Amino acid sequence: MRRTARRLADGREVIYFDADPSAPPRVAEDTRDLPAQAPASEMRRDPLSGEWVAMAAHRQTRTYKPPADLCPLCPSAPGSSSEIPESEYDVVVFENRFPSFAQGNPDIPSTVEGMSMMPSAPAAGRCEVVCFTSDHNTSFGHLRPAQVRTVVDAWADRTEALAATPGVEQVFCFENRGEEIGVTLHHPHGQIYGYPFITPRTERMLRVAETYRAEHGRPVLGDVLAAERASGARVIVESEHWTAFVPAAARWPVEVRVVPHRQVPDIAALTDSERDDFATTYLDVLRRLDALYDRPLPYIAAWHQAPVRAGRDLSWLHLEVFSVLRSADKLKYLAGSESGMAVWINDVTPEQIAERLRAPSV
Ligand SMILES: [Zn+2]
Repeated sequence: MRRTARRLADGREVIYFDADPSAPPRVAEDTRDLPAQAPASEMRRDPLSGEWVAMAAHRQTRTYKPPADLCPLCPSAPGSSSEIPESEYDVVVFENRFPSFAQGNPDIPSTVEGMSMMPSAPAAGRCEVVCFTSDHNTSFGHLRPAQVRTVVDAWADRTEALAATPGVEQVFCFENRGEEIGVTLHHPHGQIYGYPFITPRTERMLRVAETYRAEHGRPVLGDVLAAERASGARVIVESEHWTAFVPAAARWPVEVRVVPHRQVPDIAALTDSERDDFATTYLDVLRRLDALYDRPLPYIAAWHQAPVRAGRDLSWLHLEVFSVLRSADKLKYLAGSESGMAVWINDVTPEQIAERLRAPSV
């Protein structure tokens, strides 16, 4: 794999990941006349919940709108310049033009005016876009295993790079797929967030893992994985290094966890064979998800990685894939109980959905 870092016209970084180290060098210049980057945002911590909220107000007033026929994630062509100056690419990562978290933040008062109990701070961090392929008309699930491997290497590279970025406490790689999830760009892509704090979900999972380890002396996900593999009732796919299963207390109508058999804190810690094996295992999972309702399944794929500094020995990397679709044409809405109280009601059992995803006809 060859990695080439370049700069876009407004100074943002673009990084090419080439599977073939002898591919032509990445030297194309960004010839666009781009305005300076949007000002960075502010974040505030709600004193009632203790959670940070980023105020990315500039995202509402995006001045740069590409013409409808120009995909900003396709390679550039003569006469039409996109975010990627090259005329083709394998996998490319670039800094988001409208980031929720960014470097170089302006001075922000340490509390919200007139609210001494409410801390505020620059939303310091980094937001990146990952293009999985230069082919506009495909999806992650239709990539070849070697292409997925390059994506995994890019995720690993960015996890280490963002972890070394000042202020970043947690790195989150994810993909939103499908219009039902709110995706407006159809080009196969994902995002990487470097948060300046540990996210509420991770913080809670670390507390639970700590309590479990104090009681049992073992990592909780290791015990869950062993139990799922022993039972097999909710296992979808099992390979040498990974197992994919529907969690026994799944919250979403379709939900799968893809877990490595070895406890590692993050993607960067995966070995070559674990990365290769992930590619084929995950592609198998995605094929089954698309076959479930016989249509491309809208989904969110969320990597749970250890925070940069805290709780690394408690963490066990895993990928969570879930969908809002409860039948071919019905969405699950996050209504009163879920949105108001974070109490989930699922109307299918994990065992039923696992059986359907496991079916050989899928
Ligand atoms: Zn495109």
